[in-house]
Amino acid sequence: MKIGIPRAMSFYHNYTFFFGFFTALGIEIVLSDKTTKKTLSRGSSLVVSETCMPVKVYVGHVLNLLDKGVDKIFIPSFQSIAPKIYNCSKIRGLPDLVRNVVKQDFTIIDATLDKSEKKRGLYEFLKETVAPFGITDEKKIKKASKTGWKVYNNFKVMTASGMDYNQAMNYALQGKVFIQKEDKEYPISIALVSHYYNIYDERTSMKIFDKLRKMDVKVYSALQLTDKQMDEGINALGQIAYWANEHEMTGCAGHYLKDNKIDGLITLTAFGCGPDSLMVDRITRKTKQFNKPLLNLTIDEHTGEAGFITRLEAFVDMLYRKKRASIINKINIDETQYIPNTNFIQVDDVVKNKSL
Ligand code: SF4
Repeated sequence: MKIGIPRAMSFYHNYTFFFGFFTALGIEIVLSDKTTKKTLSRGSSLVVSETCMPVKVYVGHVLNLLDKGVDKIFIPSFQSIAPKIYNCSKIRGLPDLVRNVVKQDFTIIDATLDKSEKKRGLYEFLKETVAPFGITDEKKIKKASKTGWKVYNNFKVMTASGMDYNQAMNYALQGKVFIQKEDKEYPISIALVSHYYNIYDERTSMKIFDKLRKMDVKVYSALQLTDKQMDEGINALGQIAYWANEHEMTGCAGHYLKDNKIDGLITLTAFGCGPDSLMVDRITRKTKQFNKPLLNLTIDEHTGEAGFITRLEAFVDMLYRKKRASIINKINIDETQYIPNTNFIQVDDVVKNKSL
């Protein structure tokens, strides 16, 4: 039993869960290769140009799995992840989109998760997912989902401690848990606000974490936060959650805007993303209220690395200067320590004031 999983979009949120789940049921996972220029250009060639970049990347990964000879590909439809909290239409219709543009012979495992509807919850979704493999034993499915949660929770514990995404993923898949202890002190801290599939796909994000680290910047993201912290972040911006990815955008921004250790925020969004244009606009308006600098970066398949680096460097340079200025302004000269030289009297003063 084999299932292909595209290394794109929801992979960056829940692969650890599905690794535990499918492995516990004896289903072998075939992952697509890491994103390359070719993945993106093959995906782009099949969809209309207005489609956002993450979807183009996703289609490229499906093609890569087909090249590997996989005949069953997991392309779930995540409609809503909580009552009245919805995904964007592209995520909701992803199986149909792929079916329409990839004209090859393969089975799409397109189970639907819709927590706004009755009988469309997680267990129904998992049952639908494994039915094509002839697995119907509910006890077995529930037990496998527990294994999935265990791997997922281990991953979350490690990322919450500040561990790098890839390192935490590697340990979690090996069933290991380590807690990261950060020894190095960074002069500047930035919160990176974006969808996981935009920032943890190294090709899409142009290795933004590495670039900022080289500039001696500590980078925080939604991955270090709990759901409760992100809920509070949404409230802090006076918003209510509507989009499924509201947590990693509005919640993350709201939390870090209140956090004194954060010097500035960067939002990274895909060109043509409807939900992001709304959420980033709200974040930008609120940022002024918190007096924190914000850089909005938009990416698409034509974004050049040189221009991307220049904008990052300019932003980080401004944060350094702002921080230096705020430190200098805090240095008070105690006036009582200033002792004027009273032995020296200007001759002019003697002439002007006879009392001297
Ligand atoms: S949320 Fe935005 S980036 Fe993500 S799939 Fe939808 S339109 Fe594309």
